[in-house]
Amino acid sequence: MKCKICKEKAIIKLKRHNIKLCKEHFNDFFLKQVDRAIKEFKMFKKEEKVMVCVSGGKDSLVLWYVLKKLGYNTVGMYVNLGISEYSENSKKKVLKFAKLFDLEYKIVDLVELGYPVPKIAKESRRAECSVCGVIKRYYFNKVAYDEGFDVVATGHNLDDEASRLLGNILHWNDEYLKKQVPVLPAEGKMLKKKVKPLIRLTEKEIASYAFLNKIDYLIEECPLSKGATSLVYKDALNLIEENIVGTKQFFYFQYVKKLQKELEHSQNKIGSLKECKICGMESFNDICSFCRLVRNEEQ
Ligand code: ZN
Ligand code: ZN
Repeated sequence: MKCKICKEKAIIKLKRHNIKLCKEHFNDFFLKQVDRAIKEFKMFKKEEKVMVCVSGGKDSLVLWYVLKKLGYNTVGMYVNLGISEYSENSKKKVLKFAKLFDLEYKIVDLVELGYPVPKIAKESRRAECSVCGVIKRYYFNKVAYDEGFDVVATGHNLDDEASRLLGNILHWNDEYLKKQVPVLPAEGKMLKKKVKPLIRLTEKEIASYAFLNKIDYLIEECPLSKGATSLVYKDALNLIEENIVGTKQFFYFQYVKKLQKELEHSQNKIGSLKECKICGMESFNDICSFCRLVRNEEQ
C-alpha cells in the first residue's frame, strides 16, 4: 500500500475519497478538510475569537489542536457536568492537554453552581442527555457572550451529524431538521454563532488523527449515554457506507445544500427574542429553557 502523493508507505486508506496516504499526507489531508469546512461555510476568520467546547474526548481535543495549528485564536471551554468519575477523568484530560500545548481555557463547574446533571435530571424527571444538552448550550452561550467571543465551535463530526439527520428524518422532527446545518448564525445580541469545523471528517478519521499525533483523550464514553438511540443510527449508516461507499457524506451534504437554499429564500425568523425574566439572557420565551429546567417547571 503506497501513499498516493509521495509513494512512501501508506498508513491509511480513505475509501470514500479513494486514496491511500502516509502519515505526513494524511495529516495534510486532515488539516485541509478542516480549513475547507471553515471557509466553505464561512465559520470564522483569523481575527475572530473562537470558543472551543472541550469535553476531553477525541473530537473536541482534535478540534482544539487543529485550530491552533491552523493559526486561529482559540480558548477552550470545559463544563464539569458532575457525572461522578467520568467528569473527574475528562477534566484531567482537558487540563493535561491545555498544559502540554500551552492553551488558554475556561471552566464552568456545575457542581459548584449547584446544577450537576444527574441531580437536575432527577428533580426535573427528564432524560439525562436532554438535561445535559440544555445546560451545556446555556453555559457555552452565556460564557461566549459574557467574555466577548465571536463564535462557539464544537467537535461534531460527519458521523454525529449524519446519524442525527437520519434520526430526525425517521421521526420527522421538523423543528430540528431546520437547524441541521454546520453553521447556526448568531441571533439577537446574545445568542452566538455556532459552528462545526470537523463536519467533513468521520469518527474513524478523527481517531486516526488523534492516534498519529499522540493526542491523549478520554476513551471512556459518558456513562449516561449508554444505549443512546444515536448509536443505532450510527451503526445503520456505517452498514450502508460499507456497502455503498460515499453514502454518508452524500446524505448529509446534499441535505445541507438543499436546506441552505431554502433558508436563503425564507429569511423570516420564528418569533422574536426577549430577555429571560430570571437570568436576563435572550430567549424566545419569557423564561429561558435553562431557567425553566433548573426551577423545575413544566416544559
Ligand atoms: Zn505521502
Ligand atoms: Zn434564564
